[in-house]
Amino acid sequence: MDECLYFTRRTEGDKGHIMAWAFKKKCPKCGALMGKPVEKGKVKIRAKEYVCGECGYTEEKAEHEASLTVSVKYTCPKCEHKGEEEIPFKRKAFQGTQAFVFNCSECGEKIGITKKMKAPKSKKKKAEVDPEDM
Ligand SMILES: [Zn+2]
Ligand SMILES: [Zn+2]
Repeated sequence: MDECLYFTRRTEGDKGHIMAWAFKKKCPKCGALMGKPVEKGKVKIRAKEYVCGECGYTEEKAEHEASLTVSVKYTCPKCEHKGEEEIPFKRKAFQGTQAFVFNCSECGEKIGITKKMKAPKSKKKKAEVDPEDM
């Protein structure tokens, strides 16, 4: 998981499944992986920039994220089509919240990967909340 900047797995309705991840970007200067800055062993999740752990090269958050891609593996909650998509690392408005949005390639259903589960049905589901709330 160290290579992932973003990773989530969730269930949509009765049939749908979504797994989505984004790999960390390699530093253009030295090739090491870039990520949120770490201070005293803790990742600064709300930081406005990404840094290279090796050479300290810094990129502004918006610029950095614009160059990232989210890979998605899904089972459509509507038609149960299983597919894969690659979408830009850019959240859009979706059902009153911000989400990575894509369409089922089979039926066209709009599917959003929201920041957090809106209403976890049971406590078990808590583990599915994104490790990084960005
Ligand atoms: Zn570097
Ligand atoms: Zn579908």
